[in-house]
Amino acid sequence: MVSCWAMASHIVGYPRMGPKRELKFALESFWDGKSSAEELQKVATDLRSSIWKQMADAGIKFIPSNTFSYYDQVLDATAMLGAVPPRYGWNGGEIGFDIYFSMARGNASVPAMEMTKWFDTNYHYIVPELGPDVKFSYASHKAVDEYKEAKALGIETVPVIVGPVSYLLLSKPAKGVEKSFSLLSLIDKILPVYKEVVAELKAAGARWIQFDEPKLVMDLDAHELQAFTHAYLELEATLSGVHVLIETYFADVPAEAFKTLSSLKGVSGFGFDLVRGTKTLDLIKVGFPLGKFLFAGVVDGRNIWANDLAASLDTLHALEAIVGKDKVVVSTSCSLLHTAVDLVNEPKLDKEIKSWLAFAAQKVLEVNALAKALAGHRDEAFFSSNALAHASRKSSPRVINEAVQEAAAALKGSDHRRATNVSARLDAQQKKLNLPILPTTTIGSFPQTQDLRRVRREYKAKKISEDDYVKSIKEEINKVVKIQEELDIDVLVHGEPERNDMVEYFGEQLSGFAFTANGWVQSYGSRCVKPPIIYGDVSRPKAMTVFWLSMAQSMTKRPMKGMLTGPVTILNWSFVRNDQPRHETCYQIALAIKDEVEDLEKAGITVIQIDEAALREGLPLRKSEHSFYLDWAVHSFRITNCGVQDTTQIHTHMCYSNFNDIIHSIINMDADVITIENSRSDEKLLSVFREGVKYGAGIGPGVYDIHSPRIPSTEEIADRIKKMLAVLECNFLWVNPDCGLKTRKYSEVKPALSNMVAAAKVHRTELASAK
Ligand code: GLN
Ligand code: ZN
Repeated sequence: MVSCWAMASHIVGYPRMGPKRELKFALESFWDGKSSAEELQKVATDLRSSIWKQMADAGIKFIPSNTFSYYDQVLDATAMLGAVPPRYGWNGGEIGFDIYFSMARGNASVPAMEMTKWFDTNYHYIVPELGPDVKFSYASHKAVDEYKEAKALGIETVPVIVGPVSYLLLSKPAKGVEKSFSLLSLIDKILPVYKEVVAELKAAGARWIQFDEPKLVMDLDAHELQAFTHAYLELEATLSGVHVLIETYFADVPAEAFKTLSSLKGVSGFGFDLVRGTKTLDLIKVGFPLGKFLFAGVVDGRNIWANDLAASLDTLHALEAIVGKDKVVVSTSCSLLHTAVDLVNEPKLDKEIKSWLAFAAQKVLEVNALAKALAGHRDEAFFSSNALAHASRKSSPRVINEAVQEAAAALKGSDHRRATNVSARLDAQQKKLNLPILPTTTIGSFPQTQDLRRVRREYKAKKISEDDYVKSIKEEINKVVKIQEELDIDVLVHGEPERNDMVEYFGEQLSGFAFTANGWVQSYGSRCVKPPIIYGDVSRPKAMTVFWLSMAQSMTKRPMKGMLTGPVTILNWSFVRNDQPRHETCYQIALAIKDEVEDLEKAGITVIQIDEAALREGLPLRKSEHSFYLDWAVHSFRITNCGVQDTTQIHTHMCYSNFNDIIHSIINMDADVITIENSRSDEKLLSVFREGVKYGAGIGPGVYDIHSPRIPSTEEIADRIKKMLAVLECNFLWVNPDCGLKTRKYSEVKPALSNMVAAAKVHRTELASAK
């Protein structure tokens, strides 16, 4: 028998949605009033127990509980702390579905709480709203309930709770509270609730508690780090008699934070992301606290690749030599929430590619196999099939395309930008396009009706012929063109009726991409995304959009805007290969998109939009890494269009406005026109220009919010334009909505765009008479 501490394996967290998105469907049916609370709870209970059993059967020693959530783990912590904003009318007592889902999604009379991205993942959490008057109380016993639920199944778990300091640092001051309010000043008010929770977990028999403190990987100042020391010192007495694991993830822990962390009181172990945080290894070598457990996150929770078991085992042996025998616990780099659920549900995936992958269920087996091997019980069959898969991936002709590698390597060290500067280009373009002042356009997609989705689905399933498909799409494009002409929009779009998703559409036509049937990852609430898998060198076998775009252009005399997704966005919304640096993959995609841009130009398309909706979200967590990322990301974008003529107008689009900090990189993209989200964020965007930043290219800050069904009036839009004219020169200003219209109805889109055009015309007349 091996001792209890050998073969220690741990999972930071597990996907909640279920292998076939069971939770999604149960939630949506409950929200629609089609099923009862009991039915929803039943689905949730079944999912939890199957996950726990799966981990227990695999042999995992530290199985997480309370990583299930009906919506979001940060919202669960808000419920635990009773930090319900007053507008939801909560009167105390255990928080139930009504209050919980009102906070998450809003209800008929009150809007939802704000949602924002969870670090640099595509998961979104519900932002706690705090202030000096919030009264905290223990209002959701979910952590304890789930611990007991597992125990009743005979499974000992580690309850996982968002740690107190990260919780506060992830919050924002509530409406009406000074922006400068110190959220950390609330620490002594929330700790009593944490103490109650810990005491109750201890009483229920918990042996370990995991506090997730991912904020420790950020650039924190001394005052923020001090809060960790203070909080865990304060909790020390309560924590006696139970082991505490402080879990970090998504990046290296900076040296100062590591010091703080390793001197925390009452803590038994620390978890580190050793996939993204390889520098943490150096800190562990010199300063890991004696006698503590190291939870070594060697299995990647952010990606879908099979672990390199032999390499991981080497790392684990090295770590064991530093921190001591039986002190290393094999773990995942972060919660498996951010990866797909189970490869078992991918029967159609190519066998060879499949052998290179590990989804959450497979990662659990990898963690366990590593833990066993570390304890001297190596499963030879498991290790050797893993080694074989790695060898096949290294040499597979599916992965390697030498021509692509050479072309991408040739880009290195040189810059790529258009030969002429933007103002000369804009002059040349204006001569050709002859647009009015304040030109109007839209962002690309038009409403996607049920009919349209059905046509695409049937074509994919080969239920309708290619001819019928082309005919339907052509009719749709024609309809969209006619609508825009009637509305008198200046630069038209074809409406993207042939596209399901802006990344998938291109991925399906590029080499080096694979698609899953069930590789869903939670984005927020019940929403999931299914990122493509980039497994090999990327190339473009043939033109991807030219057929539809030239057809669309032939239907009108007005300029028809070609519509492409940019390389950075394709990269950031995919599972990216881990056998070469991300920027190399990005350059390969850039070259493929460059070919497409040039083919569109040859086909007579004079305005081409290259969407970079996800450029901002790829920004690394740590400031020290920003400039490297921005350099290659912006460079990749420029590569796509460095070869076009001056008269070809390049647009780009971004769906967010909080780019004040990266404005110089945006300028450096050197697009002729940029359209950006603006109306939802209180026109924050305009403040950059108010502060004197000069943007010498065309710019279209969205004049209305497409996320809402509301139809903005002409006056309202005219007023928005007026505000823009106060900070931006009229020669550069474009008039367009915030984003694509695909989620809206025609009954909303037509009047909204009609008012938008009318508002632009009001200003044109005014500007003309002012001359
Ligand atoms: N061209 C895309 C559309 O209009 C852009 C979508 C986006 O920015 N997310 O739908
Ligand atoms: Zn957008």
